Amino acid sequence: MNPAKSEVTRRRFLGTSVAAAAVAAAGRLPRAAAGEQAKASPRKTVLSFYCDDTSPYVAGAKAFQTFLDYCAEHKIAGESTAILGSGGHSMCRKPDDEEQAYLRQVTRAWKCGIDTHMELMTHAGLFDFDANRPPKDAKHEGLWLYEPEVTVEQYQRYLGGIIAEGERAGVKFTGLTWPGCGCEVCARRYAELRAGGHKDPNPALWTALLNLAKEGKFRGRTVPCFFGSSETEFGIHRKASEGACGVYDLMPNARDAFGIWENNPARVDPDYYITADGKSGIVVRHVAAGAPYCIWYAHWQGLNPAKGVGWRAFTTVIDRIGKHLGDRVVWMRPSEITERYHAAGGWGFLDLK
Ligand SMILES: [Zn+2]
Ligand SMILES: [Zn+2]
Repeated sequence: MNPAKSEVTRRRFLGTSVAAAAVAAAGRLPRAAAGEQAKASPRKTVLSFYCDDTSPYVAGAKAFQTFLDYCAEHKIAGESTAILGSGGHSMCRKPDDEEQAYLRQVTRAWKCGIDTHMELMTHAGLFDFDANRPPKDAKHEGLWLYEPEVTVEQYQRYLGGIIAEGERAGVKFTGLTWPGCGCEVCARRYAELRAGGHKDPNPALWTALLNLAKEGKFRGRTVPCFFGSSETEFGIHRKASEGACGVYDLMPNARDAFGIWENNPARVDPDYYITADGKSGIVVRHVAAGAPYCIWYAHWQGLNPAKGVGWRAFTTVIDRIGKHLGDRVVWMRPSEITERYHAAGGWGFLDLK
């Protein structure tokens, strides 16, 4: 309804070309042979999720608290972004009561099993940290991650600025989620970049993230990122690495059927994940195929417990997974997945003892 809002919350713009290119570059995941039964698979499947567009402006701080309480109580794990400048200013400088209450919950997310990714600073125009606002007509952040002229230093300074805003409020980021955008300016420029062969983010971004990880600016030594997604051509892709530090694109392999950014009831379907009898759905299929993980993505507009049309479906899916797949799956936040994958040099840590 609100064009500005739908513009900034839109993702999946680049579609499958990103996913396909990433897989071609980094190789496919080892998959169990088709038709193999779940019980024959020698490993558990990791479950996780990303929740985009989280802020106090969508549903209030209390809704985020309820979400975190639920995650802690049910011992599930995933990620929920914090977009510290999505209100047009840094909420960490002079927070109002609602912003303050939200920030308190964000600092609590980790111990409830939930990672905190930056979805950059505003999910819209590049932020001016001196002026505490984005200048009018600023280039959009998501697009900027693909611009080939940007240097490692420029990325590092900007992302370091977001991390410093978080530190004002005690927020420690775990990783980065690409803020998708379908506005006219971005759409035109993405098409130009694609035509010029620039289908992937600027590699300087990965180096900048690695440098920040080496400086201890992220919560862990590895940095999970969320760019493309695909139900079939998914994978974890190492983008930069040095010693104990690494930057990974950890692709979701299940989509948002919890109402998406439109908070749209027509886009809610718990059976997409797992049916009531536990016999079908994408989570069941990934587990049966012996996939190392099943990660879905969602949006706070649809998922939140206050106004989200997808909240009931979300809790239904968690209940069904517990009932039917409990011994076949293990919940992990994205940063734990990349930490363990990096330390083990692969998925060997999932092998059942
Ligand atoms: Zn988003
Ligand atoms: Zn845009």
